[in-house]
Amino acid sequence: MYDQNNIFAKILRGDIPCQKVYEDTHVLAFHDLHPKAAAHILVIPKGAYCSLDDFSANATPEEIGTFFATVGQIARALNLHKEGYRILANHGTFAGQEVPHFHVHILGGNALGPLICPHVST
Ligand code: AMP
Repeated sequence: MYDQNNIFAKILRGDIPCQKVYEDTHVLAFHDLHPKAAAHILVIPKGAYCSLDDFSANATPEEIGTFFATVGQIARALNLHKEGYRILANHGTFAGQEVPHFHVHILGGNALGPLICPHVST
């Protein structure tokens, strides 16, 4: 169930501000409030999707394709493609998803280090 009061829904409605990087009919991109890299951009669809799981199951193939093409376009516009960048999307509790509106993080602008925290085996 999509929460209409999540923080990104409020940004899309204009109830709270964001530092906008890009906007078109389907997509909004803005700077992360707590950047984890020199460049840390969040890209969100304007449709009400809770996470990648919801988006990949319920958006049309055209919406999905256009969204990811736009992610690449934004990274190129910011010149992040030259030295490299990472995209990341959290879904659910194990991934630590904080905001229940689908978003892709674009991280770049400096060397990012290892991909992810190590699996702890007992
Ligand atoms: P996630 O853990 O994948 O759900 O990431 C949510 C991200 O949203 C975090 O990196 C937060 O720093 C970021 N965030 C939360 N509130 C805002 C906001 N008002 N403007 C921009 N970024 C935000």
